[in-house]
Amino acid sequence: MIAITPLEAWIGEKAGIAPELTGRSFAEALQGYQLRKLNETIGYARRASPFYRPRLSFLPAVPLSALSDMARLPFTTPSDIAAEPFAFLAVRQNEVARIVTLRTSGSTGQPKRLFFTEEDLELTVNFFHRGMATLVRPGQRVAILLPGKMADSVGDLLLRGLRRMDAQALVYGPVTDPLDAVSVVTSFGAHCLVGIPTQVLAMARSRRGAAIGKGPIESILLSTDYVPRAIADTLEAAWGCGVFTHYGMTEMGLGGGVECAALDGYHLREADLYFEVVDHATGKPCPDGVTGEVVFTTLTRRGMPLIRYRTGDIARIISEPCPCGSALRRLERVKGRWDGSFCLGPDSLLNLPDMDELLFRLPNLLDYRATISKNEAGNFHLHIDAQVTEESPILRDKDVLRALNGIDAIRKTVGTNLEIPTVRLSANKCWSTTGVAKRRIITTL
Ligand SMILES: [Zn+2]
Repeated sequence: MIAITPLEAWIGEKAGIAPELTGRSFAEALQGYQLRKLNETIGYARRASPFYRPRLSFLPAVPLSALSDMARLPFTTPSDIAAEPFAFLAVRQNEVARIVTLRTSGSTGQPKRLFFTEEDLELTVNFFHRGMATLVRPGQRVAILLPGKMADSVGDLLLRGLRRMDAQALVYGPVTDPLDAVSVVTSFGAHCLVGIPTQVLAMARSRRGAAIGKGPIESILLSTDYVPRAIADTLEAAWGCGVFTHYGMTEMGLGGGVECAALDGYHLREADLYFEVVDHATGKPCPDGVTGEVVFTTLTRRGMPLIRYRTGDIARIISEPCPCGSALRRLERVKGRWDGSFCLGPDSLLNLPDMDELLFRLPNLLDYRATISKNEAGNFHLHIDAQVTEESPILRDKDVLRALNGIDAIRKTVGTNLEIPTVRLSANKCWSTTGVAKRRIITTL
């Protein structure tokens, strides 16, 4: 029997849904709440946000009569925020409690600025409190391996959420020294770890980490834009624990959704966010079950409401009901990003997630960087710079090359558009110092 996601009761309360409603009636009541909140958000953004005022002026006073009317509204893109962040601000500047600056992907890209009021931050703490109940019981100890030194940083907000459920939490911060992290986590007696996939992997693949064995660590929450399945499987095998995935980004107010005990897609934070999946090229809504780009609208945010924000993340809504029995929708685990792939030739798209699934299954590989350049003849060159442990079995270049050969895009283009890839393996090197930066294929063309 799989425990129902605690998000359902929480979302039901927030949306004012009668506790006796379940299944389809719950889902319909939630849709009614979302429609009301979307109309409120659009009205608020039109009144208070200089960015949205002109863009949404064409809409009638009550803009939506059904959720499907959302498709008539324009999208908001990351570059809109980067270009004029203050135009998104819907409150006075003295009401802003936290500003997060995010680097954007392009080398010339301006950073994005995101503004949160005290009430906005409280929404996040509330989500962390109720969402963590999926994998932590009161009285348990949680090691937070995310940035948390600054007030209102992700680690700090999570700590505050966990305290509300009487869990004990320790903010360790991002892992730069896996051995040190393992000893701190072990002496703290952590039942649960929350961290960045490659960093927790480095802990598990260290000798001291492997010695933890099965039992002490009961659950892990991995959080970033997407989590390679190969890393989750490796952690599960090493420590015999449940590996849950969280989906979120700063723009969502950090939290977006979290998997239930069925470990098969995220239940979403639907009282605070409205999610859509749209066709990446046409922008048209995708029916449930069809893969597209994740788009969300904030329902409760004051500082900086966002309407139809394009995340760039690839996923689909799972049509089938969740084995946990919840009426909440599920978003399939994110499969990477639209801008994260590279075209090596016709029908030969190289994706980081495809490489991740094969490379992270290699024993002793901790992290890697893939760089694509062009040689003088105009052919592509792929170089893998991999970080490995020094322990046996020793990983060799040819093991990495063999794994790469399992990728269609590489196999199909090697010898024509693509030179034979090169590999450099090094031990005692740690790149994982940037915290929550998104991994990507590096191009030097
Ligand atoms: Zn579920």
